Amino acid sequence: MSQTRPIGPLPSRALVAGAGLTGCLAALALARAGWVVVVVDPLQREPLLGRQRAYALSQSSLALLQQLGLASALAPHLWGFDQLTLQANRGRTQARFHWTDLPRNAPPAIGWIAEHRPVMTTLLRHLDQAPGVTLKLGAADGAGDKAWDLVVAADGHRSTTRQTIGVGCWGWRYDQSCITVQARLQGGEPTRAWEVFRDEGPLAVLPMGQGRAQIVWSTSCARAAALTAMDPQAFARALAAVLPRAAELVTVLDAPQAFPVGVQLAQRLRQGNVLLLGEAAHCCHPLGGQGLNLCWRDVGCLHALACRVGQGQRSINWLLHRYGRQRWVDTVATLLATDALLRLFTPGCSSLGRLSLDRRLLVPLQRLSLALLHRWGLLRSLVLRAMAYGWGTPRRRGVPQP
Ligand SMILES: Cc1cc2nc3c(=O)[nH]c(=O)nc-3n(C[C@H](O)[C@H](O)[C@H](O)COP(=O)(O)OP(=O)(O)OC[C@H]3O[C@@H](n4cnc5c(N)ncnc54)[C@H](O)[C@@H]3O)c2cc1C
Repeated sequence: MSQTRPIGPLPSRALVAGAGLTGCLAALALARAGWVVVVVDPLQREPLLGRQRAYALSQSSLALLQQLGLASALAPHLWGFDQLTLQANRGRTQARFHWTDLPRNAPPAIGWIAEHRPVMTTLLRHLDQAPGVTLKLGAADGAGDKAWDLVVAADGHRSTTRQTIGVGCWGWRYDQSCITVQARLQGGEPTRAWEVFRDEGPLAVLPMGQGRAQIVWSTSCARAAALTAMDPQAFARALAAVLPRAAELVTVLDAPQAFPVGVQLAQRLRQGNVLLLGEAAHCCHPLGGQGLNLCWRDVGCLHALACRVGQGQRSINWLLHRYGRQRWVDTVATLLATDALLRLFTPGCSSLGRLSLDRRLLVPLQRLSLALLHRWGLLRSLVLRAMAYGWGTPRRRGVPQP
């Protein structure tokens, strides 16, 4: 892969490896900053669109979508939730967050639930229309012999680009899997999300409108395998038994999927002219819905830096250096905070491995934390701000536009 070149009259050129949600948004961010971009992915369009997932987008993600001119196209596909209840096993202790716990000028929601297909369709359509962008789907290697100013590795948690440049990873698995499934519920408030801390792992209920909800259910790998192998009626009975009392199951809407969860962090976020973004750089437990938002905060950082290069104010070397430094604090803090919350709030979970903590100590600590969060608005506000905007990341105002 090539070395960087000094600032010149020609637009800077980037290769983006991976057309997942991170790679597509990164390509669009670079194009909006005046770069010429080639995006490659071994998958064709339909498999890229066809993932059965839904995401909880945070304030930082919405701000980036607004900056990149995507928010209005996506607005019909976003379902905002303005309340979030954290609950210890089946309703004994609760902490309730409201969007008013966020800063006064924040849009009126804690987060927005978006299904994969409309988000991906919108990203690909904007990439098709963006000047200077070439999409090469079904192509594993787009590097060829061309000299790229920048290579963006956004090729997922098993990133071959990361392996090719010899960057290792730190991390651990939890012996937990996460089951995702959509369900129709009744009885709950349409804009309230839930995170229930069950002994086997956290369970999130994310409202999607029209009585539908995305369920994100963490449990041991063995139980997840057994649950996803059940016939639909048996699975529905098992799901009904774990939902919060206020949200009664009407029907399960799709087939449950399970994926193993853990923590992974690349040992470097930059090597030469290659930057690691998204799950190529980091993965965390879905607790708190930080995964995709953290990926998109990488894109937000890249966009801000690429604008400066696109305007001729800074060199590509400066961008490479700054990205590698700027993304550490938010990334490490988010991974550690998610891991700590998981250990604190799932005290009976034997599947957390050697580092799971003593239940006798953690149950009272969990109750105390929830009670403090419930009563103390300042604490709620601090926690919600970290979830909404990340850690040590500049609020996205005043970023220069190309
Ligand atoms: C089964 C499953 C279900 C999930 N469900 C949810 C959910 O319900 N809600 C949620 O918030 N999060 C969910 N997640 C996590 C979420 O999908 C990730 O946070 C998000 O997809 C990360 O995006 P990414 O673009 O960084 O990586 P990916 O989405 O993994 O995209 C990487 C892309 O790189 C491509 N690629 C691979 N190798 C190469 C190569 N050599 N060259 C070029 N391209 C390459 C891949 O084909 C892929 O398109 C789920 C994850 C999994 C695995």
